Amino acid sequence: MAARKKRCRFCGAINPGEATVCELCSRTLSSKRHTMVKSIIGIVLGIALIVVIYAIQKTPLHITGSLHAPRLELISSSGYASISGEMIVEGKVRNIGGDMLEDIQVTVSWYDKQVNKISKAKSDIYLNPVLSFQVSPFRVSMPHDPQMGRYDISFTTPKGEAIYTRDVRGKAEANE
Ligand SMILES: [Zn+2]
Repeated sequence: MAARKKRCRFCGAINPGEATVCELCSRTLSSKRHTMVKSIIGIVLGIALIVVIYAIQKTPLHITGSLHAPRLELISSSGYASISGEMIVEGKVRNIGGDMLEDIQVTVSWYDKQVNKISKAKSDIYLNPVLSFQVSPFRVSMPHDPQMGRYDISFTTPKGEAIYTRDVRGKAEANE
């Protein structure tokens, strides 16, 4: 067999195996090994990109939401049993985004002293719409249950999508 030749990837000229620049166009000749390393790096980067795109598409919506800036700020809340046997949760929420928010609903979930959810109730917040930087009261009532230990508050759009809310309860009273 003849000595190994190098084919120029620019002009296609066949050069002697020991040549480092093309005899015809004077451009640098890359070795086979160099080209292979480049190809492998390209393939690895390509696979990594596909994995990243796939991971982003598989990310659930509520996590995507949390990547964005919070739109609401939960300023205060209190839960108490009324004389008529209702458990009331009321408080204040501020729109901290640049846009007004319409038809916001508040959901209160009650848990027992462990972590078992025992009841859940939903209500519209008082202001509709809530303008940018406006504070709206909210109030949710549900039948009292002696098992009630702690509660969670969340805010949703009419479609049921969670609105990312920053909890500043106990930190923002001075502003009220
Ligand atoms: Zn060449």
